[in-house]
Amino acid sequence: MTAQGSHAASTTDVPRRNWAGNVRYAAKAFHRPTSVDELRRLVAGSSRIRAVGSGHSFNRIGDTDGDLVSLAGLPPVVEVDHERGQVTVSGALRYGDVARQLHTQGYALANLASLPHISVAGAVATATHGSGQTHGNLASAVAGLELVTADGDLLRVDRDADTFAGMVVGLGALGLVTRVTVDVVPTFALRQYVRLDLDRTALDEALGSAYSVSVFTDFREPRLREVWRKQLADQPPPPADWLGTTAADQPRHPVLGMPAENCTPQLGEPGPWHERLPHFKLGFTPSSGDELQSEYHVARTAAADALAALDDLADLIAPVLLVSELRTVAADELWLSPNYRRDSFVLHFTWVDDTAAVLPVVAAVEERLAPFAPRPHWGKVFVTDPVELSARYPRYADFAALLADLDPKGTFRTDALDRYFPR
Ligand SMILES: Cc1cc2nc3c(=O)[nH]c(=O)nc-3n(C[C@H](O)[C@H](O)[C@H](O)COP(=O)(O)OP(=O)(O)OC[C@H]3O[C@@H](n4cnc5c(N)ncnc54)[C@H](O)[C@@H]3O)c2cc1C
Repeated sequence: MTAQGSHAASTTDVPRRNWAGNVRYAAKAFHRPTSVDELRRLVAGSSRIRAVGSGHSFNRIGDTDGDLVSLAGLPPVVEVDHERGQVTVSGALRYGDVARQLHTQGYALANLASLPHISVAGAVATATHGSGQTHGNLASAVAGLELVTADGDLLRVDRDADTFAGMVVGLGALGLVTRVTVDVVPTFALRQYVRLDLDRTALDEALGSAYSVSVFTDFREPRLREVWRKQLADQPPPPADWLGTTAADQPRHPVLGMPAENCTPQLGEPGPWHERLPHFKLGFTPSSGDELQSEYHVARTAAADALAALDDLADLIAPVLLVSELRTVAADELWLSPNYRRDSFVLHFTWVDDTAAVLPVVAAVEERLAPFAPRPHWGKVFVTDPVELSARYPRYADFAALLADLDPKGTFRTDALDRYFPR
């Protein structure tokens, strides 16, 4: 089935800056091709080119001083393969749009991020994730990729390929992804309950208590402010005294002072997976809109210790923090995935929109978490030393070799990439 929607070409539709506004793209030219052939010619004729998705990353990972191309003008495709239990989608489509179409056909994705506004290819390239002890990140559900490589060729790879596990979380550096094939499951329903005031000692039990659980805190008190439980709709609601918490009696937004109307329904109202797994509704501003973000993955077994390691930084963190979110992600085999062979506990920080004030705090957080070998989110703000980072990824050198092999002339290279994967 081919999705409906306009894909008229206008380079003015290509974002000039990221969603948060902290990165102005340095590209000398912006492009929005309307066919794969046009994209292939563009790549073949460019010495430096990158794709931009929906621009929701907070750092310069996708920035280039060459050509910046949006693939949102390519025909939008959502094709379900019922036999294989997979869907092939255009890389530039937003998860929210894909999800709606899948649901009407009786299918679901196993998990989603906190927002449905992000493009599939952009989210997969940075190993974007949701929460759930038994769910991998969004990239771990990818079964195949179609991409335009540095010489303008169209390459199709699937799980059987030797280097596939290196290509999925590709940071946009291996080619421009035109289509992504993803595993689907039968559609399902969830209920979302928000519980208040969790004791830290119950964190692990809370995170493992439902299909997908997020815990929010602000480092202002030792207790954890909110637990967002996304549980299968046919499961009983948490009892009144669940883990010593109380039930929220009205809908919440994770950032205090922001309207709960922007968030997916709570209070146990049942609804389809794609309207409960993300915290934020498509068509509404996700999160605060005026912010920076950082995020670190450590081993799930280190959750309590990693959190405790930040305790005496609370006075430093709290003044520049809007909210912190604690999640879990299951291990996978993808070379640059922060969850590579490690069931993970993930500490997320939504900071105020003040880079100068935030960077020293990011550095302090990284220093405290260093004993836990944290792997930062590739699309968020981090300051980790490249040598230290490389030591945290057993397949780092293999990815560097893949880069050299697929992009020998550095067509997809950026300053950020050169820093982390020196030639
Ligand atoms: C409000 C908010 C909430 C967020 N919540 C979460 C969350 O819950 N979980 C989480 O893990 N992350 C979260 N993120 C981070 C976000 O998911 C990632 O930054 C993701 O990469 C954004 O996808 P994008 O389409 O905007 O990619 P972009 O930021 O546009 O690009 C990211 C990278 O992908 C590359 N890329 C994009 N399209 C293509 C393509 N077609 N082919 C090849 N490379 C491509 C770019 O070159 C770049 O390197 C959040 C971000 C925001 C702003």
